[in-house]
Amino acid sequence: MKLNFCSLSSGSSGNCYYLGNEFHGILIDAGISATSIRKFLKNMDISMQTIMGVLITHNHTDHIKGLEVLIRKNSLPAFTSNKIWKSILSPRNKISTDCIREIPLMKKFHLAGFDIEAFPVCHDAPETIGFHICAGDKKITIATDLGHICQTAAPYIRAANLLVIESNYDEQMLANGSYPHFLKARIKSDHGHLGNHQTSAFLADNISDNLNIICLAHLSKNNNTPELVLQSLQQTFSERGIALNRQQQISVLNRNMPTDMIRLTE
Ligand SMILES: [Zn+2]
Ligand SMILES: [Zn+2]
Repeated sequence: MKLNFCSLSSGSSGNCYYLGNEFHGILIDAGISATSIRKFLKNMDISMQTIMGVLITHNHTDHIKGLEVLIRKNSLPAFTSNKIWKSILSPRNKISTDCIREIPLMKKFHLAGFDIEAFPVCHDAPETIGFHICAGDKKITIATDLGHICQTAAPYIRAANLLVIESNYDEQMLANGSYPHFLKARIKSDHGHLGNHQTSAFLADNISDNLNIICLAHLSKNNNTPELVLQSLQQTFSERGIALNRQQQISVLNRNMPTDMIRLTE
């Protein structure tokens, strides 16, 4: 089975990810405009007709900005929990009930040839979820907004062959930056975001030969750089004597433009 993944946009200004097999695709979050999503997919020769639905992680704007237009113009179903739907839907938001699909947490459902399980993560929205997606023997986990990795989320993250995980801020840049105290505290809290050292430490503690591709995601615009993300990971791995094998690769996802397509085959 052919399996393709790419990030269309990843970061505090907008998130959208594509996962596809040879027949269909799904999107995870729609935090950039519907026009950009359509344009980026077209540039990669992916037809909107092949997209079978959108999975939504939570109600923050950087994850749902383009959702309403995207699903209305393309008659797409969108999938998230009951509690997250309640936090998204409002009189201002004209999402048609035809497009709304409620999913349970920690229970598999099937879409476009994928077995998908949503799991709860700790973040400052009414509810936030990550997704664990199985295609044949390949497992993909996406966890982009979480203040810490709780015991419920950890097994889904550990089980991934391809992992998209947040590395939001450099601890020093955040501490020395211009954000007001309350915002710094919010970001650093257990319900905020993962800092570079937190993500590096978790990966160092949990890396296995099954984890082939690590995509470091959701970088802050003001408190991080791709260089610092990689530096933190390399330093932590070298301090612990961890060496990657030849199949393993690490990439930092672009904030404002699509990455190259990552191809997994089984
Ligand atoms: Zn976010
Ligand atoms: Zn968020």
